[in-house]
Amino acid sequence: MAKCPHCEKDVTLDSANKDVGAQEVRKDVEGIVKKEVMYSCPHYDRVLGFAFFFGGLGTGRP
Ligand SMILES: [Zn+2]
Repeated sequence: MAKCPHCEKDVTLDSANKDVGAQEVRKDVEGIVKKEVMYSCPHYDRVLGFAFFFGGLGTGRP
């Protein structure tokens, strides 16, 4: 289980783990092909990090 570096509450990237008491990290995705993701704490809206990946048609990713 991951803990938020800001508030030290349990967070998870997997929404299936919500029922264990961890809240899912918020993922805000921007972009059509080059996706930029901002991860933020579900408790205090603090930004945890950024990532990007290539998505869209042909990749099977949203
Ligand atoms: Zn937090």
